[in-house]
Amino acid sequence: MKEALKQAKKAYSLGEVPIGCVIVHEGKIIGRGYNRRNTDKSTLAHAEITAIRKASKVIGDWRLEECTIYITLEPCQMCAGAIIQARIPEVVMGCMNPKAGCGGSVLNILENPQFNHQAAVTRGILEEECSGLLTLFFAELRERNKLEKEQRKTADFPK
Ligand SMILES: [Zn+2]
Repeated sequence: MKEALKQAKKAYSLGEVPIGCVIVHEGKIIGRGYNRRNTDKSTLAHAEITAIRKASKVIGDWRLEECTIYITLEPCQMCAGAIIQARIPEVVMGCMNPKAGCGGSVLNILENPQFNHQAAVTRGILEEECSGLLTLFFAELRERNKLEKEQRKTADFPK
């Protein structure tokens, strides 16, 4: 999870929502990813999708059957779906995402017994570090937006 946090910090330094992910196979990291949605202007540029793509390249298969995925934030519906599609058997997550998470918050795509595959899920690993980074990011974003709004106001009413 520390490695996933390093990835999240890369997203943070780009001004992206800080979410990071790594995929481990036989004790080795074979895929890394961080959120680049705005940078790449792509809905698909989530940390997990990038890491899955890289891991599949290393393994040489779309199936990642002996892998563990570490994510700083509970995955969205797209990424939880991709995790199940990739047959990743173990998911370790940092903090939960009550408004959008599909690893137990809004939905539980990862452990749904109606699908043909389920993942074993561990929650709350380095939770405070993972959520702390997000809290910091959003606090700074609000502050930036407030400043911009004030600057716009000043520009609208020149003295
Ligand atoms: Zn996602």
